[in-house]
Amino acid sequence: MIDSYQRRINYLRISVTDLCNLRCRYCMPNEGIDKISHSDVLTLEEIETIAKVFVELGVDKIRITGGEPLVRKGMLGLIENIGKLEGLKDFAITTNGIMLKKHAKELKDAGVNRLNISLDTLDEEKYEYITRGGQLKDALDGIKKAQEVGLSPIKLNTVLIKGFNDDEIQDLVDFTNSGIDVRFIELMPMGEARNWAIDNFISNEYVLEKINGLKEVKRDDINSPANYYKLPSAKGKVGFINPISCKFCSNCNRVRLTSDGKLKLCLHSNEEVDLKTPLRNKEDIKDIIIDAISKKPKEHHLEEGDYITRNMIAIGG
Ligand code: SAM
Ligand code: SF4
Repeated sequence: MIDSYQRRINYLRISVTDLCNLRCRYCMPNEGIDKISHSDVLTLEEIETIAKVFVELGVDKIRITGGEPLVRKGMLGLIENIGKLEGLKDFAITTNGIMLKKHAKELKDAGVNRLNISLDTLDEEKYEYITRGGQLKDALDGIKKAQEVGLSPIKLNTVLIKGFNDDEIQDLVDFTNSGIDVRFIELMPMGEARNWAIDNFISNEYVLEKINGLKEVKRDDINSPANYYKLPSAKGKVGFINPISCKFCSNCNRVRLTSDGKLKLCLHSNEEVDLKTPLRNKEDIKDIIIDAISKKPKEHHLEEGDYITRNMIAIGG
């Protein structure tokens, strides 16, 4: 599918739930979010149908995310079915890693080939603070297990937060020695934590200034929002995702499906297209998607203070 700005849209991110076993401060409010009523959540069958239609329309890359995808019952079956879709070349999942110790092998067997694991700190107390109660050991055990079962490549996603993890940048970069890529993501102002995010923003430039010896490496995917660097001796790369300081809209190839069946054409736009209701008439769904893609916005306007109201947990990062 080609949108109105000649971008090829071949990447769908599917949020399978807005529930999570953690409560990260930048992602969801303290009191949690309003629970979506059960009947508004896409069933696993509906998610599979939508994924199938997208693949028929030329999407060849799918990432499963959430909330925390692994907390949803029946996920492994869905992952297995999506993994088998003909035409799908790249199938990945984003997780906080807490349940990977238990599920890494099943994910590998179900056809997941790439894994992003979110980890913002290597300090137990800080981990408990930022996730409002999570245990670092569970996440680290999950990462270890994913490596043991051969899930590869594994990328760690670290959101940079001023006064929180800016003193750990070197330790996180050193993780690349083990062959894992580490990607620093700029904190995005969205949902109820938007003002907090603005106050605690650090630009990725700061990391580049702080870490000596990083050499830029050639991009292997022009649609990836990350720029990659490497320490000369490390096996893994250091990536920077700069949605704020350097927007990558002109290469955007993705759309998002929320767990309540809304198609988001741009992460930073409040505009959504309902796919759950028309699913009752499956014939129409392809046309609705094609029409929606033609309306994908050219770019976001975060730099002008145009922030969205949905919390990240209710979209899928
Ligand atoms: N629960 C899974 C996890 O944490 O990896 C998947 C969902 S989570 C919403 C996906 C990613 O979004 C995580 O890497 C998280 O750090 C990132 N994220 C959430 N809110 C963010 C924000 N305001 N700015 C930047 N990244 C954010
Ligand atoms: Fe949960 Fe991931 Fe959001 Fe943290 S970032 S609250 S782990 S969905």
